[in-house]
Amino acid sequence: MDRRTFLAVSTGAAISFAMAGLPRTAAAASSSHKLPALPYADTELAPVITARTLSFHYGKHHQGYVNNLNRLITGTSYADLTLEEIVTRSSANPDHTALFNNAAQVWNHTFYWQSLSPKGGGEPPSALKRKMDDDFGSVDACRQALLAAATSQFGSGWAWLVLENGTLKALNTVNAETPLTMGMVPLLTIDVWEHAYYLDYQNQRKVYVEAVLDKRINWAFALENAEL
Ligand code: MN
Repeated sequence: MDRRTFLAVSTGAAISFAMAGLPRTAAAASSSHKLPALPYADTELAPVITARTLSFHYGKHHQGYVNNLNRLITGTSYADLTLEEIVTRSSANPDHTALFNNAAQVWNHTFYWQSLSPKGGGEPPSALKRKMDDDFGSVDACRQALLAAATSQFGSGWAWLVLENGTLKALNTVNAETPLTMGMVPLLTIDVWEHAYYLDYQNQRKVYVEAVLDKRINWAFALENAEL
């Protein structure tokens, strides 16, 4: 590939990254995973998620996972892989649990920030609404399934809307586990680790999840990922 072609390809990758709003990891060089910028100001999710929660969650927790990831891959065969490759490869190796946990938490958090929007909630876009009607019976049934997944997760984890074999499903995963390694297409996620809501809601996880679903969930992002 000559330089001109390379630049064209690189620019294309940057544009598709920006449009999809997903972490740009394909060209990640050794030990250089970066904390992606938040897609909104840290004040814009309030009052559902306050700037105080975001500053710790993004600035300390998410950044911490990125730092651990870079430390753990340095000098290993993982160093030149994309984040998605690191997640899937380390998940298959019981000796690499710490790496999996940190890599998957980097991916899950970036996906979570994209799953929220200052203008979120409300009615899903029509193509997603039709799919919810087909697979859950109604938008409200889908919302209830997500709420149940989020509130029934025992301890730390995540609630997800996914496509499994073309069908919408709500499910939860424990700790850093992610549908990326389960042959599913993740559409959106809600973090239900206590650090996601404890400063704002204390023990009331259900109140946090309901507020997110009603006012901040980014249905447009889910539709984009579903490619319906
Ligand atoms: Mn978190």
